[in-house]
Amino acid sequence: MELNENARVDTGQVDDRRGSGGGGGMGIPIPGGGGRGGIVGLIIAVLVALVGGGFGLNAMNGGGGAESGDNTSLTQKCSADDALKQLDCRNTLYVNSIQAYWRTALPERFGQQYQPSKTVFFSQGVNTGCGQADSGVGPFYCPADDLVYIDLTFYQTLADQLGAEGEFAQPYVLAHEYGHHVQDLLGTEAQMRRQQQRDPDSANALSVKLELQADCYAGAWAKNATGTADEQGQKIFKSITEQDIAQAIDTAEKIGDDAVSKRANRPVNPEEFTHGSSEQRKQWFTKGYTTGDPKSCDTFGGSL
Ligand SMILES: [Zn+2]
Repeated sequence: MELNENARVDTGQVDDRRGSGGGGGMGIPIPGGGGRGGIVGLIIAVLVALVGGGFGLNAMNGGGGAESGDNTSLTQKCSADDALKQLDCRNTLYVNSIQAYWRTALPERFGQQYQPSKTVFFSQGVNTGCGQADSGVGPFYCPADDLVYIDLTFYQTLADQLGAEGEFAQPYVLAHEYGHHVQDLLGTEAQMRRQQQRDPDSANALSVKLELQADCYAGAWAKNATGTADEQGQKIFKSITEQDIAQAIDTAEKIGDDAVSKRANRPVNPEEFTHGSSEQRKQWFTKGYTTGDPKSCDTFGGSL
């Protein structure tokens, strides 16, 4: 993968809250600690908390007050000549590419206008419209405030603890979260929640379908990413190789529910899956990539 050094990094699409003391300032999750509502039950081991809780829509307690960060230093950094050497600037550019894709694809394929969503960079802890969250939950999308949240140190955990290495894991993760934003815009997420309430026994199976669709949407973006450009029309990517796609597929496999359970030495129970098996995640990312068409991402098979 090669990014175009002439592409302008649009930091207006992110909200840098890393310097703001981290919302609740909660730091490291306390295993088994009580009183944090939806999050707590997931924190059995840090590894399980990371991927079991993250990478999805988390039901968190309350509605924390959203606050804005300060992009001044990020904007300065991302305007410099060596901007693309910086993790946060590269990730901002990935966000730019993913949203540029949906700005075209959503009206074209679904007849609906795309509404942009910012990505919040935070460290340790953050207040969101879905409640307080700390880094242990991994990256997530909050439908209540329409924002994507990520602590960029997650990528290190992804590499160290889950063995998913390679730069292209990063845009894949972001494209998955923006997939949830698209599901929110299309009403898929709300329909799925209603269906879960009508049929609680299928709650996990429905969650898996939502997650696999987000993987498929990420694949559709990956196929079309080299066609995305900044506001001046400069291409964002010079190239994306087969090796990059292989890295995204590898990441999808490494964060499959069965793979994560095995890594955490926990029993593999398909009924408890909420994100899909390694094989399913690989399969649906690949489907999105092969077709390049988000309309092909019908994981619900007309069941919503
Ligand atoms: Zn997800």
